Amino acid sequence: MLKEYFKIFIDGYYGYWNYLTSEIFYPSWHNYFWWLVGISVVVWGIELLFPWRKNQAAIREDFWLDGFYMFFNFFLFSLIVYNSVSNVAVEAFNDFLALFGIQNLVAIQVGTWPAWAQFLLMFVVADFIQWNVHRWLHKSPWLWEFHKVHHSVEQMGFAAHLRYHWMETIVYKSVQYIPLAMIGFGLDDFFVLHIVTIIIGHLNHANVKITYGPLKYILNNPVMHLWHHAKHLPEGSNGVNYGISLSLWDYIFGTAYIPNENENEPLGFDHVEEFPKTFWQQITYPWNRSKQKA
Ligand SMILES: [Zn+2]
Ligand SMILES: [Zn+2]
Repeated sequence: MLKEYFKIFIDGYYGYWNYLTSEIFYPSWHNYFWWLVGISVVVWGIELLFPWRKNQAAIREDFWLDGFYMFFNFFLFSLIVYNSVSNVAVEAFNDFLALFGIQNLVAIQVGTWPAWAQFLLMFVVADFIQWNVHRWLHKSPWLWEFHKVHHSVEQMGFAAHLRYHWMETIVYKSVQYIPLAMIGFGLDDFFVLHIVTIIIGHLNHANVKITYGPLKYILNNPVMHLWHHAKHLPEGSNGVNYGISLSLWDYIFGTAYIPNENENEPLGFDHVEEFPKTFWQQITYPWNRSKQKA
């Protein structure tokens, strides 16, 4: 059994390496790498043409750091460890289920539904799970130390979207795995969903003032998300506006907070100026910090 897991680990590693190199060298419509680059260039262009904070530099503070995070979180982390480890975890989890005679987790067969309905279900379910996980990242003092990386952004721009600690990937994916497996989707279906969420997420962090009119009660937007990053929160609150793609949950559960549309609202958290500035220091920060405390 262990040998089998080891083989899955190694296969996952080579499989991902082949996938990544073919993504980069053979652009196609079904290609995360070039879509991410394309979306980034377009949203950056919109920021430059219609900036909300007029005096923000085109290459804002931490632009390159965030650009690196984008590539690291989306591609390199999977290559280094995530893809292989998660393949093994899925196999071990299935083996564990098999002990109880469970062959798969599919609870609702949605394969026969029209594509748009499948997409909508997946989009809403995944987003609601993420909204809950995001609340948890703010509520748990241990997880907050990791989530601080995302909140250490002091000047907002599209690339800040994917500045986060790799531990968040593990938390989000693990929590989502079972519920999404129960809906029983093939991997292919995630592509469009991912692309749509990248577009919305990039825009949420962009230096543009878009609120989508009355759709603001459904879709998260740059004005709402800027307040998620605000340094000064309402008394006694762990956070506000936890929405990822949808703002709906914050309106339903009373965590929406947009007191004004001040584009220069200070961002970060208390003592953000003491937070490390480089990639390596930031991703090792939660552990170094607990060592300091102990
Ligand atoms: Zn947050
Ligand atoms: Zn954010």
